[in-house]
Amino acid sequence: MVTFTGAGISAESGIPTYRGEGGLWHKYDPNLYASINTFLQDPSYYWSFFRDVRYPMLKKVKPNKSHLALAEIEERGNLKTVITQNIDGLHQEAGSSSVIELHGTTRIIYCMTCSQEYTMDEVFFMLEVQIPPLCSECKGRLRPDVVFFGEALKPQILALAYAEAEKCDFLLVVGSSLVVYPAADIPLKAKRMGAVLAIINKETTPLDDLADYVIHDEAGKVLPRVVKLLK
Ligand SMILES: [Zn+2]
Repeated sequence: MVTFTGAGISAESGIPTYRGEGGLWHKYDPNLYASINTFLQDPSYYWSFFRDVRYPMLKKVKPNKSHLALAEIEERGNLKTVITQNIDGLHQEAGSSSVIELHGTTRIIYCMTCSQEYTMDEVFFMLEVQIPPLCSECKGRLRPDVVFFGEALKPQILALAYAEAEKCDFLLVVGSSLVVYPAADIPLKAKRMGAVLAIINKETTPLDDLADYVIHDEAGKVLPRVVKLLK
């Protein structure tokens, strides 16, 4: 089995969604805080957002029942890879060892000149002194290892995700509304290659009609029961 996860799974940990009700982008204009053009012109918007919103939020949240259930299913040998749209690193924190992060991760920050990597904690302390933070090796500019609006997904990551989807017998979607490209396309590819497609999501998705199983509920309620059944 391969699992495809989206914002819904992290929402159950208390990470606000982006566009939904109460979503982050209603409060923070993504054109200022999450677009590559603004970031290159004036990275201080992103870094103030990181300092005041992103970092405190990520320090607070923990993996939830869904993340833990997926890690346990992997441990049992029933799950090969998690493909995720999320950038919060909660799958790895829960214990999943094979995770493909389509949009990168906020937890790694690197120098755009010399590629030196920094942790979130290191950069948070740099931000006490200066915004934007500069590389301590070469004074280059830093950036998070995420895909900003206006940037393409990394082709090698995307290729890896498609390869996993094409090879799997069972593709389980968890907490994704399957609307943002390539979210819809990856499960569709798996289905076309003969995999069973199952969707667990609170709201309906464009692939519901095509899926073999659809459960409209919170993943945190459903996945622990799947683990129980597997046992
Ligand atoms: Zn550097």
